[in-house]
Amino acid sequence: MEKEIKCHLCEGKAVLKYEELKLDKGRIIIKNSPYYKCVECKEEFATSEQMHELSNKINTKFVFQRPIINAGRSLAVTLPADIVQYYKLKKGEKIKLIPESRKEIRISLS
Ligand SMILES: [Zn+2]
Repeated sequence: MEKEIKCHLCEGKAVLKYEELKLDKGRIIIKNSPYYKCVECKEEFATSEQMHELSNKINTKFVFQRPIINAGRSLAVTLPADIVQYYKLKKGEKIKLIPESRKEIRISLS
């Protein structure tokens, strides 16, 4: 992984940093999760490679079990607060549900 890359916002210098990610009220800890922080504009971001790596880790190690609840005439699943925070999700935001197989539905944010 590059120690320094260009900031995607201001083209300034962004340096590689590691953080400890806590999910599910601290029950799940991902140590040394890499991201970049721009020394100019302070933007923090992850590259697609880093995001991919993280989602692989989450896919294999971290599973949040949620019950299906009623929401009017639909059924709903709530999102854990940690997921909301980490992915910066907002009410009203559109997400995509992608059927992967008879046993798997993927959630996509774009
Ligand atoms: Zn920047």
